Amino acid sequence: MTENENAESRDFVRQIIDEDQKTGKWDGRVHTRFPPEPNGYLHIGHAKSICLNFGIAEEFDGRTNLRFDDTNPEKEDTEYVESIKEDIRWLGFDWQDRLFFASDYFGQLYEWAEQLIRNDKAYVCSLPLDEIRAGRGTPSSAGTNSPHRDRTVDENLDLFRRMKAGEFPEGAHVLRAKIDMAHPHMLLRDPIMYRIRHVEHHRTGSEWCIYPTYDYTHGQSDALEGITHSICTLEFENHRPLYDWYCETLGIHHPQQIEFNRLNLTYTVMSKRRLLELVNEGHVGGWDDPRMPTLRGLRRRGYTPAAIRNLCTHVGVTKHNAVADMVLLENSIREDLNRTAPRRMAVLNPIKVVLTNYPEDQEDLLDAVNNPEDEGAGTRSVPFSRELWIERDDFMEDPPKKFFRLAPGREVRLRYAYFIRCEEVIKDEDGNITELHCTVDPDTRGGNAPDGRKVKATLHWVSARHAVPAEVRLYDHLFAVEDPDEVEEESKDWKSNLNPDSLHVVETAWLEPSLSDSQSGERYQFERLGYFCVDADSSNDQLVFNRTVTLRDSWARARRK
Ligand code: ATP
Ligand code: MG
Repeated sequence: MTENENAESRDFVRQIIDEDQKTGKWDGRVHTRFPPEPNGYLHIGHAKSICLNFGIAEEFDGRTNLRFDDTNPEKEDTEYVESIKEDIRWLGFDWQDRLFFASDYFGQLYEWAEQLIRNDKAYVCSLPLDEIRAGRGTPSSAGTNSPHRDRTVDENLDLFRRMKAGEFPEGAHVLRAKIDMAHPHMLLRDPIMYRIRHVEHHRTGSEWCIYPTYDYTHGQSDALEGITHSICTLEFENHRPLYDWYCETLGIHHPQQIEFNRLNLTYTVMSKRRLLELVNEGHVGGWDDPRMPTLRGLRRRGYTPAAIRNLCTHVGVTKHNAVADMVLLENSIREDLNRTAPRRMAVLNPIKVVLTNYPEDQEDLLDAVNNPEDEGAGTRSVPFSRELWIERDDFMEDPPKKFFRLAPGREVRLRYAYFIRCEEVIKDEDGNITELHCTVDPDTRGGNAPDGRKVKATLHWVSARHAVPAEVRLYDHLFAVEDPDEVEEESKDWKSNLNPDSLHVVETAWLEPSLSDSQSGERYQFERLGYFCVDADSSNDQLVFNRTVTLRDSWARARRK
């Protein structure tokens, strides 16, 4: 690749950094950070930001900090802090000894606030919040100055110190930056820097009863950590002038903020507030419900870190918000598991096959390939006997033209085993099919007939006597429509679009015996059925599997029709 082509294939964030490296803007340093607020579990959107920040640092021989932006004590919790750390490690990234908390900077931020007051760049405003909001004006009309805007420095310092000392109730005062109430940029119309909150913080306890706003905290936290490239999502683009104002007015280091597009996916929602609502209202089993787009949920569903990282690379970064098709995520895990997941046989919707010409006490061990994509994975033995389970859908009594699987009088191949022919259909009094009586051709062991005759279908199967029972959970999209925000009637909300059939539980599926001691987290391909993962609920007494994804994109096929 020439250097030029290389530059074209690089996203705009990397191009900016390439340029900075060329001009020596940061003396060759690349220092990024991932700044989550610990108010929920990470979702796959966060993974994009994590991959970008940590990935760039790795590529440029730089560093990445993990910093918790914990300025909002009511919604934050150490439970979230711990889960976020675990999830980032699971994705495969390491912040080494660079773990920080914005709350560690509360002292410094307070000092800077006093500095701004002394320089007549901040003042205590005692208007109620709604009046402050109304006073901001509109994008087309200037705001009005607060009646407290001209308080003296001494008065401001006194009030601010008494706010900190806990002398006032919540809402009595706020500290505001003194910028310009007619500023063309609404966010710079004397924004709030501090508010009074008599609540405990998960890290600083009751040390503080005034808390800095996110906007007053974020840029300075970057500055304190010597961040060079402060990479964030597009919605912060219009906050950038304010971050710049704080850093410039304080005369401190000022990282370059670069905004990129969020990752959104069809058939799901991607905001911690909404995900929390789904958890709290019991629409899902928890943050780690396999239907959730959280890293916990995806992990439990069977997703690998590699598949998630590949998706993040694949969607790339741009300046335009768009919604990525869920199929991309599903293809990413298929690609990974196709290479790595051992193949097994399992029957989810069983019907019994009795081989009438196979002796009751006989048993046969057949060689089955563990992974055709990976020769090193070897083979295993699968037991065969007179009674087998096959998939009920693989038989039709009165098949239409294009149905090539088992039917009365027809011969098919059992994978790794023999040809069998259906001789008789057994029914109960109500006419339901209970068993298929078949004959096996002992000369077709291994799946080929010596006389060269062909069959049109190969079915998976499990020996009934050896089969291991398992509960299998089949998942569909969490929402029934691509865009959960699109509601039919105004009175309805996004939750009315939840898919009522997103979980289907197969209480008793039959698995080949090699799966009897499978452990939580293991992933397999069940031949012809999809990729499956052993659930956290699974035990030796009761195996539980989740379907990670079907083998092909059945949705794309449906659309093409
Ligand atoms: P949410 O809206 O889901 O609550 P957030 O932006 O409030 O997300 P933060 O904890 O503030 O969550 O996010 C940490 C970092 O992850 C931020 O830099 C944010 O821009 C980024 N991020 C959050 N959601 C996405 C997304 N969908 N795609 C890419 N990056 C994201
Ligand atoms: Mg946020």
